[in-house]
Parts: sequence; structure tokens; C-alpha cells
Amino acid sequence: MPAIILDGKKIAKEIRAEIASAVKVLTPAGVRPGLAVILVGNNPASEIYVRGKVKTSEELGIYSEKLTPPPTISTEALLKMVYDLNRRDEIDGILVQLPLPAQVDSKTVLMAVDPAKDVDGFHPLNVGFLSTQCPGLVPCTPSGIMEILRRNNIPVSGQEAVVVGRSDIVGKPTAMLLLNAHATVTVCHSKTRDLQAVCRRADILVAAIGRPAMITRGFVKPGATVIDVGMNKVTDHAEFDSLFAGDRKREEIFRSSGSTLVGDVHPQVAEVAGAMTPVPGGVGPLTIAMLMANTVKAARMRRASRLPELSKA
Ligand code: NAP
Repeated sequence: MPAIILDGKKIAKEIRAEIASAVKVLTPAGVRPGLAVILVGNNPASEIYVRGKVKTSEELGIYSEKLTPPPTISTEALLKMVYDLNRRDEIDGILVQLPLPAQVDSKTVLMAVDPAKDVDGFHPLNVGFLSTQCPGLVPCTPSGIMEILRRNNIPVSGQEAVVVGRSDIVGKPTAMLLLNAHATVTVCHSKTRDLQAVCRRADILVAAIGRPAMITRGFVKPGATVIDVGMNKVTDHAEFDSLFAGDRKREEIFRSSGSTLVGDVHPQVAEVAGAMTPVPGGVGPLTIAMLMANTVKAARMRRASRLPELSKA
């Protein structure tokens, strides 16, 4: 039986509707959550992501602001921009779109973001809150993965979970969230021995690698839930044919745009997995939805002492 497809677009839509309601509840208290996005330079992929973030904010009633310093900006000038945003009360979330140009010290800039406004959840204080299970801001893609599991009633507690990838942005926080939800978690990376055998133990397999279709059916235990975080652009005709030959819809997209997105999981895995996220339309849509959720959460948490009624909103 082919895998159940875990529809990320549908879940993201549900979450966006919940956020729009939450924003309305804050209005009578005079609170409008605000998000500032810093986009340095003209990286086309970053521009698309930021446009999506600003547009979604507006749709949900969240105030948004885009700052676009030139690609030649220094670390010091960028730090000043972050400190200014840290001081402004109407800004609840600050997002520095990565990657930053080579001359900028990215870690120093990310560390400068006020942890209470760190809607990406990358600041070491929020990383610590996550690992000690204290309230804080959790990275967006990993929390989106947990929403996919939760809203599809996929059990996590007591399950074997294997996460392939140990980045600070995806792999590690996903592993921590699964552990906090009582899974038995193994984290794999490029030095893992016999990756295939380790992956085959998984009831829940998360692939966050950045290698097109690397996880083939031999890596997957029959019936497992497979979460594909990878977003890889395929432009080569032979590679496209080896992955999607016979898939009419994909062939049309590839013919018209010259590329298609493929995850880290081979499409044939759908023949063995019990449930699986598609690419596109799986984890991707959740990332922006969870960014919006974090902005509203930050707005509430920052005002919790001044407006205690908001913590119940
Ligand atoms: P990353 O920082 O490059 O990390 C990749 C991880 O994969 C590393 O831990 C690396 O191991 C591991 N790896 C690489 N080759 C491997 C191999 N042959 N066997 C086992 N492990 C291997 O990437 P990332 O930022 O986590 O992103 C991963 C993927 O998710 C990318 O395709 C990215 O575009 C996508 N992504 C999607 C979203 C979304 O919203 N859907 C959000 C973020 C990222 P080492 O640590 O040993 O090098």
C-alpha cells in the first residue's frame, strides 16, 4: 500500500487560521505582534523567502517591517541595526535572513538578537531553554515537523526516531523536540557508520541532509513515517528522469520552468513508508507558519508580566 501523504499545506493553513484568531484576541489589549526581517543583499532565494514571510504576516494581521541593508554592510553596522530593533517595543520578532555575506560575522549578529525576540530560536539561550524544557522560542522548521506528527496523530512517545543531519537549524533541534516528546532518538551525520542500517531501525525517520533523493527505499523500515526536510533544486534532465519519469505533473513543471524541487528522500520510498511528507508541500509550508506562531508567542511572552491576561489568550 502506498504511503499516506502528510499534507503540509493543509496543516499550515490550519495553523495560519489559528494565528489570525490569536492576533485578533490581542487587539483589545492594544497589542499587535510585530516582525522585523533583515535581508542583506540580493540573494534571489532569500528574497523569495522574505517576500513570503512579509506577505504571510500581513495576511494574519501581524505588523511587519523589512530592512534591506546593502551587501557591503559591516558586522558593526548590522549589529547596530539589531540593537535598534531590540530596543523597539512594537517589534516582537527579529529575523536575520541567512546566509549573510562573507565579511559579516554571522554568529555574532545572531547572538546580538534579544533572546525574547529571537523568533528563529537560534540564540544559545533559547537552545538551552529547549534542551531543559523551559518556555522559549523554538526553531521554526523543527516545530513544524512536530506539528505534522501531532496533527496526523502519529505516535512519538516510545518510538524509535532517527534524524539524519545535525545542523543547529534543523537536525539538532528536531532531535531535541523528539526526545522531549519521549522518542528514543538517534542523530546521524556524514561520519555515521552503516547509515542505512541505522535508518532502518526508525519508526520515524527525519531526513535533513541537503542531498537529493539520498534516502532510498533500502533505508526505510516498512510502515515507517518519513519526514523529508530537504529542498534541493534539480535542473539536470537525466537526474530528473531517474527520479520522476512518468510523473506527468512534475514533467510539465520541469518542462516549463527548467527545474523542480526534490527532497532528500527518493520518491520510491512512498512504496514502503507508512506515511511521508511530499516535497514540495510537506515541511516547507510549516516553516513560515511556525515563524508567525513564534512572533505571536514572543508578543505574549514579552508582555506577560505587564499584561498577565495575555498568557491565557
Ligand atoms: P546542513 O547545515 O548542510 O546540514 C546537513 C547535515 O547533513 C549535516 O549534519 C551533515 O553531516 C549531514 N550529511 C551530509 N551528507 C551526509 C551523508 N552522506 N550522510 C549522512 N549525513 C550527511 O543543512 P540544513 O541547514 O540542516 O538543511 C538540510 C536540508 O533541509 C537542506 O536541503 C535544506 O535546504 C533543507 N531545509 C529545508 C527547510 C524547510 O523549510 N523545508 C528549512 C531548512 C532547511 P555533518 O554534520 O557530518 O557534515
